Amino acid sequence: MLDELNPDEAQLGAPNDLQSFWQPFTPNRQFKSRPRLVVSAKGMHYRSHDGRAILDSSAGLWCANLGHCHPKVVEAVQRGVATLDFAPSFQFGHNKVFELASRVADAMPGDLNRVFFCNSGSEAVDTALKIAIAYHRARGEGQRYRLIGRERAYHGVGFGGISVGGMVANRRTFGPMLPGVDHLRHTLDLERNAFSRGQPQHGRELADDLERLCALHDPSTIAAVIVEPVAGSVGVYPPPVGYLERLREISEKHGILLIFDEVITAWGRLGYASAAERFGIVPDMITMAKGLTSAHVPMGAVVCRDGIYEAFMKGPEHVIELFHGYTYSGHPLAAVAGLATIEAYKEEGIFERVRELEPYFEDALHSCRDLPHVIDVRNLGLMGAIELEPLPGQPGKRGFDLMIECYERGLMTRIAMDTFEFSPPLICERTHIDQIFDTVGAVLRERA
Ligand code: PLP
Repeated sequence: MLDELNPDEAQLGAPNDLQSFWQPFTPNRQFKSRPRLVVSAKGMHYRSHDGRAILDSSAGLWCANLGHCHPKVVEAVQRGVATLDFAPSFQFGHNKVFELASRVADAMPGDLNRVFFCNSGSEAVDTALKIAIAYHRARGEGQRYRLIGRERAYHGVGFGGISVGGMVANRRTFGPMLPGVDHLRHTLDLERNAFSRGQPQHGRELADDLERLCALHDPSTIAAVIVEPVAGSVGVYPPPVGYLERLREISEKHGILLIFDEVITAWGRLGYASAAERFGIVPDMITMAKGLTSAHVPMGAVVCRDGIYEAFMKGPEHVIELFHGYTYSGHPLAAVAGLATIEAYKEEGIFERVRELEPYFEDALHSCRDLPHVIDVRNLGLMGAIELEPLPGQPGKRGFDLMIECYERGLMTRIAMDTFEFSPPLICERTHIDQIFDTVGAVLRERA
């Protein structure tokens, strides 16, 4: 794989000015003084601008599930762009997006059969929240407008997503956000659950927060509750045993829609097409993005149960049923990338492979538990986290410095403050897993 990275790209790729691009979720001044630029990628590796091979321990941003520049997807996109660059999805359509919707529906559990396309996880979340409110109104329950999220959740950066989300830094500078939103407590409990392997044993009762919020607001005012089945961006919080099942019970009892935000967990991260399948739960909607096209072309989607779609299908037939959509909903390039990606998952047995690798990944990750400053290790599927004690008075500094040190040693890592998050491409070999944790181990021993 390493040989396939093109070292010549290194010369071609260095820009001569870094100032114009305002980088997202990045300390711009630090980056521009010491840039970490990549110029090409293949399989498990990036090539840096100075010509080094960089092992990817985070599948880009939890998205390159098939590894980088997968030949089947690359070929499909190249052919696709020469065949149909764009077709409107408003009032018209093209064949590939219908085909993709059917493949997505096939892969989702229960009657999650209706697929609304968008371009990102954030758009998927805002779309799902809007569908939830509009669905209740379509059934004559327009008073159900409240949305329940969870502390420390990440649901992207739209106003809907940050409103139901619970990561303080993503919310505090943006004013009052959506009205009528409340939050469940988060599920991280280091006292009872530190160093759990897989799902933690304690915390099922935290799902009863939904009952508490129903008692406070009256359940007849609540449209939906949204959770990440495994909280990802905050630092990988697998759900306590029984927690998601309890949320399903309570939401169903009160007629509240349950939305699983599977932008990270869908398409193999947990060894199944969805977390819903892994946990044996059918939510009312699933949001997805990232792994849907294995990051080759941006795409997001909301998959809804039949009953949600059907509630909208009334009134005169020439009238639009849902006033929502994006210019690029179901873009032809995203559609062909999605079709090729889903085929590759099947042909290469990617989900089965994740289930086989999970115990090896878990052992390698937990071998870091006694390293300096490690206060927790958590994992599920091919998602894992190592949480470090912050430097006194400088939260996030230790994690940031170690991330840079890893990069200098040829490893791209993702951090959330002082927590390392690992989500390698699902094609990784055991040797890659060894290299990831050997590098992190060495960095922690020598620099932490
Ligand atoms: N929801 C979840 C659970 C996510 O993890 C993310 C991104 O990491 C998003 C939504 C937002 O996705 P995007 O960055 O594609 O808008």
